[in-house]
Amino acid sequence: MNLKSRLDFSLDVTVTEASDFIVVGSGIAGLYTALKAAEHGRVLLLTKEGLDTSATYYAQGGIAAALAEEDDPELHLEDTLAAGAGLCRREAVEILVREGPRRVRELLDMGVPFDRDAEGNLLLAREGAHRCRRILRAGGDATGKAIQTTLSCMVKRHPDIRCMERVFVADLLTSGDTCHGVLALQEGRETWLAFPGKATILATGGLGQVYAFTTNPAVATGDGVAMACRAGAEVADMEFVQFHPTALFHPRQPGFLISEAVRGEGGRLINHRGERFMPRYHPQAELAPRDIVSRAIFSEMRRHGTDCVYLDLTHLPGRFLKDRFPTIYATLAACGVDMAAEPVPVAPAAHYSMGGIKTNLHGETSIRGLYAVGEVACNGVHGANRLASNSLLDALVFGYRAAAAAAAYVQCHPGIPRELYRPGKLNPRARSEEPLEIEGTRRRLRELMQREAGVIRHREGLARAKKEIGQMLDNLSFPFRDRQSLELLNMLTVAHLILSAAEQRKESRGSHYRLD
Ligand SMILES: Cc1cc2nc3c(=O)[nH]c(=O)nc-3n(C[C@H](O)[C@H](O)[C@H](O)COP(=O)(O)OP(=O)(O)OC[C@H]3O[C@@H](n4cnc5c(N)ncnc54)[C@H](O)[C@@H]3O)c2cc1C
Repeated sequence: MNLKSRLDFSLDVTVTEASDFIVVGSGIAGLYTALKAAEHGRVLLLTKEGLDTSATYYAQGGIAAALAEEDDPELHLEDTLAAGAGLCRREAVEILVREGPRRVRELLDMGVPFDRDAEGNLLLAREGAHRCRRILRAGGDATGKAIQTTLSCMVKRHPDIRCMERVFVADLLTSGDTCHGVLALQEGRETWLAFPGKATILATGGLGQVYAFTTNPAVATGDGVAMACRAGAEVADMEFVQFHPTALFHPRQPGFLISEAVRGEGGRLINHRGERFMPRYHPQAELAPRDIVSRAIFSEMRRHGTDCVYLDLTHLPGRFLKDRFPTIYATLAACGVDMAAEPVPVAPAAHYSMGGIKTNLHGETSIRGLYAVGEVACNGVHGANRLASNSLLDALVFGYRAAAAAAAYVQCHPGIPRELYRPGKLNPRARSEEPLEIEGTRRRLRELMQREAGVIRHREGLARAKKEIGQMLDNLSFPFRDRQSLELLNMLTVAHLILSAAEQRKESRGSHYRLD
């Protein structure tokens, strides 16, 4: 399947000035890595919507780091390895937990307003599968927003970083085994834009939109993995998609996340009969690892034929809930749900991709000059199941390392071959007259993935879904020249990767659970 040949190069290609570093994406990984790379050269940061549109913005619970006196990086290591179900890359986790506290202190120095007590000590929360209070948070449950706005302000002010918003990166520019930049579409412009760069850093986030019920924002369409795959980069662990156990099941805000921290503060899961069920499934009850809680909820829903279960907080004081979880409280209130007075309807939703573009411990991919950081990357820290609040930390620790590796590469770079960017050289193709059925295909894909590649999987369902998605890919006969159709292509590509990997892994492990 040659997906590259489907791009429509009957459009002109405008070649822009070359940059030292191209960073794609403006979540925590893109912003932080851009700031670090800018210490070594000129950075161009491209993002497909506004600078603050990202999954990072919505992160609630916080960022994990062994900062408490009773804590230790070795304990954080053990908890991360246990959650990862035997598939974490140990050296990567050692780096995460040992370098993590330094990176988090750097965020403090940058001015991220993490919550403190009256004496000025950092407030640390506890989340599922962490043995102690280890999670820094900001604004109660608005940690991601605080990090995002602090970093994006710094990026905007930085003299060596140029940001371009509403630029959709479509593909990588490669020759042989080397990446030389990206090809993109800018909103309102009728040409391809070729951005040459010595080092290209993908920070495009996750792929939750491939599923019908997800906590992820609309931008999470798996673009980075799909374009890296088209360029021949190795990907890994794609079968491991984490489902967050408690996403709001409500038509006004489907998939809105009810943070793990809510269970950390005493929230109890009950079924439609009002029975608390988690103690039957795991000794840690509501604070068991996410995959276990998600499967338990799924089993209860199936057993009782319901679409959701409930998170009961009615035994906790209303004042406390309002102060501790201001965003969640206000969002639920806007949906007509009073979390202090009634149980909140929740169901598991696609949340985080442990798999992605395979990298080493320096963010380097199998393609020279191409780096991947944040959720789009798979460096092995999360194994088969990510420990809560380790994702933001991963983006910082490995973003720092990737920036250093990319800087060393840029310093001894031989120069970008200009002929790559001549208009018309990139496989021109005539426009198709066939109508595009993007919305319908997208909906079918998402429902199929939810049903067959969700919390519980089965050989037959996986094979059926893979066949159907393969057909959808083959039937895409139009040339790709707009964001909507390219996103659909990317979603189908990553769905196919998830299904292929899930079929190959015959065992159940971490977030990948097979019934057959
Ligand atoms: C609701 C929610 C709550 C969460 N809570 C926590 C938490 O408390 N703690 C924790 O550790 N993790 C949490 N996570 C996970 C964590 O937020 C994400 O894994 C992390 O923020 C990913 O950061 P990132 O920079 O890799 O990607 P993102 O923050 O998603 O940023 C990706 C960026 O890439 C851009 N982009 C994508 N494709 C393209 C393209 N083709 N061209 C140009 N730009 C593109 C997007 O617009 C976006 O700006 C949560 C996730 C969600 C959805």
